[in-house]
Amino acid sequence: MLELKNVSAGYGTFQALFDVSLEVRAGEAVAVIGPNGAGKTSLLRVISKVIDLNGGEIAMEGVSLNDVPAHKIIEMGIAHVPEHRRLFPRLTVEENLKMGGFIASARSHFDERLAYVYELFPRMKERRHQLAGTMSGGEQQMCAIGRGLMSGPKLLLLDEPSAGLAPVIVQQVFDLVRRIREEGYTVLIVEQNIQQVLKVVDRAYLLEVGQIKMSGSSRELLENDDVRRAYIGL
Ligand code: ATP
Repeated sequence: MLELKNVSAGYGTFQALFDVSLEVRAGEAVAVIGPNGAGKTSLLRVISKVIDLNGGEIAMEGVSLNDVPAHKIIEMGIAHVPEHRRLFPRLTVEENLKMGGFIASARSHFDERLAYVYELFPRMKERRHQLAGTMSGGEQQMCAIGRGLMSGPKLLLLDEPSAGLAPVIVQQVFDLVRRIREEGYTVLIVEQNIQQVLKVVDRAYLLEVGQIKMSGSSRELLENDDVRRAYIGL
């Protein structure tokens, strides 16, 4: 579904990604794991064209994204759920969800998608009139994912959904990821919480200093001695 070939990107003269190649097949959940500053957020940003591609190619379902501007990415079936959730704190849950459904191609399915998000996340229905900024971190993450689903995407890009959340809530967030995946969405998730994320994805890539250092099934990475020593602390 999504294919990156030798992708390079950065900020001005600073290069954050070097020759990154990866693939996400339809129906898969794939993680990009790695330490702070490895370039995980930059990787999602270049896929959704928030930052420019300096080299290489990105394709979604065989269609090149190289010349597609950021505001058209959502119409290609990609929803980006950004780091720190980026909700509108002074708008209600429902208003935030609606923000995700405003693109032309999603408008005709607006009511149906809202009903679907409420069915998937009954908590959001209960809280629909609450200001998003007053909800717990886990609820805000649920709202951010729900907003992403409002455009009817095929592929969800999730940027560190567990960041900054209490351990018990982290578990709930990974359960959410599992559910999204069971709903048939294809998922590309970047995470620092390596042990947990590897339990909910099929495959993963290890990113270090902007380069893919290793890839394999979740089990292969979980059992890899270097990964265990460096990232899982075993
Ligand atoms: P974290 O888990 O800490 O968010 P990350 O793996 O997501 O890390 P990125 O946020 O992609 O890493 O950052 C990769 C590199 O790019 C870092 O060295 C970072 O300082 C740099 N970088 C990120 N955003 C910008 C920016 N807006 N301008 C300049 N440099 C940036």
